[in-house]
Amino acid sequence: METEENYVYKKEVDWSLLNEGLTLPLNNQVVFGRNMGQFLSRGESKSITMILDGRSYQAKITNVNFAERHNRKKDTLQIRYSPNGELSNALKTYFINSFKYISDKRKLREKGDRTMIRLPEDCKEYIAIYTTEYQDTYLLEAIVAEDISILKEIIKNKQERVLEANFNYDVIDGEPAIFETERLVKIRKLNRKIGDNLKLLYDYRCQICGTDVGKKYDSNVVEAHHIDYFIHSLNNDSDNQLITCPNHHSIIHNANPMFDRRRRIYLYPNGIQEGLVLNHHI
Ligand SMILES: [Zn+2]
Ligand SMILES: [Zn+2]
Repeated sequence: METEENYVYKKEVDWSLLNEGLTLPLNNQVVFGRNMGQFLSRGESKSITMILDGRSYQAKITNVNFAERHNRKKDTLQIRYSPNGELSNALKTYFINSFKYISDKRKLREKGDRTMIRLPEDCKEYIAIYTTEYQDTYLLEAIVAEDISILKEIIKNKQERVLEANFNYDVIDGEPAIFETERLVKIRKLNRKIGDNLKLLYDYRCQICGTDVGKKYDSNVVEAHHIDYFIHSLNNDSDNQLITCPNHHSIIHNANPMFDRRRRIYLYPNGIQEGLVLNHHI
């Protein structure tokens, strides 16, 4: 199951993605940041290869010089391809539902209206981007609406802990494997890779107690927890994943505290409040 690929970004499909490209904030992307930060200085661009379903496409990546204009500390990268080029056409085919929906809405709206058209929550589609073992070559995976509806159907009676064990470890749960079909394997991979990236970001420390319990054993046992349970939210975005030691993870699932997002604090039923000693991403 483990592959050389590392998580770069998950992007909701929109008109820009279907036609010309996307912006990649470099925040919190450890492996990708290491790669790109070293090779592409501000204002520079280079050609990259994107692989989608075994086919390769050419695109360009630019380190846009937003930092000075907008006083941003982090670099911002843009991936660009031509509006009627092969990649753009392939994306329109994969994401035919998004393409049709947004095209229709665009025809109906008034001239000059540039508000962003978003798909209804249930029909949103995503693209996942990963680094590969080859330089300047990235892997794209399309998560289409149908993938998500099948996932929803399959996990509706599952337990959160079982699913998360599936994301964190290669745990066999005894039942027919949840993530056995190709469609679901890619969603599991995305979930796991987002978690892996965060584990690296925190150097395998628990965000709640700050410890790396596996360190002296050279064993990385830190886990990714979904703040809004994945079985209900299907939300695997970074900002819904918290890195915890196995103890804190078990305690959260046993005691069922509420997470106060504004204060970034867990409120336990017995009155204990516990914040995050490490946090760079929520
Ligand atoms: Zn902990
Ligand atoms: Zn959890």
